[in-house]
Amino acid sequence: MVKASIIKSSLVRDAMLRVDRKHYIPNKNVLDDEIAYMDSPQRIGYNVTISAPHMHAFALEILKDHLVKGNRALDVGSGSGYLVACMAQMVGDSGKVIGLEYIPQLAKHSQECLSTETGLVYEMYKNKNLQIHEGDGWKGYESEAPYHAMHVGAAAATIPDMLIQQLANNGRLVVPVGPEGGSQELMVIDKDADGNIKKTSAMGVMYVPLVNPSKSK
Ligand code: SAH
Repeated sequence: MVKASIIKSSLVRDAMLRVDRKHYIPNKNVLDDEIAYMDSPQRIGYNVTISAPHMHAFALEILKDHLVKGNRALDVGSGSGYLVACMAQMVGDSGKVIGLEYIPQLAKHSQECLSTETGLVYEMYKNKNLQIHEGDGWKGYESEAPYHAMHVGAAAATIPDMLIQQLANNGRLVVPVGPEGGSQELMVIDKDADGNIKKTSAMGVMYVPLVNPSKSK
């Protein structure tokens, strides 16, 4: 990905090198080691995939100036927990990273992966500067807001208002927006120092939907 200029910064490269993707894929789904390092999504159960590494790299590149030491980040639809661990590497133990996942078993899976990490990620998990919560991404996670960097790993039909509310001034939210299976755009939402919002589209994408848990149950 560095050679292909998908990863452009050493910060993102170092973060992704330090988090072993294999660790976030359940054993039975990785029959041979190489699969874990292929640039494609992999099944992690509950009809969910860990995103392809290039999607994680894109997200971290877009957010890198907001994932500096000491900052706060929220990953909505945190799934495997891989991206949360990368974000933690970037903001360090003076920062805070929250993962939000609505499937309880996946929240638990990612917690188990994080609790058996090593180094900074493990330290941050242990001292609660890295947390995974079960909850509805449409609502965000108010009690740790505001966040300087926010990422949504599933496509929202419209930009979730509550996520914009929880964005810090000078913060950035990256969220795929569009209908399920239809034309979706990876939207980058910047809030300036006065709280004004600017929206731009980074590229066309295809994500699974950010579900409305109250309707799907
Ligand atoms: N980026 C993650 C997972 C991406 S898949 C990874 O690479 O591991 C999208 C995730 O969003 C799934 O885990 C799905 O369960 C979750 N999700 C979908 N709708 C959600 C919602 N309303 N609130 C929280 N999580 C949601």
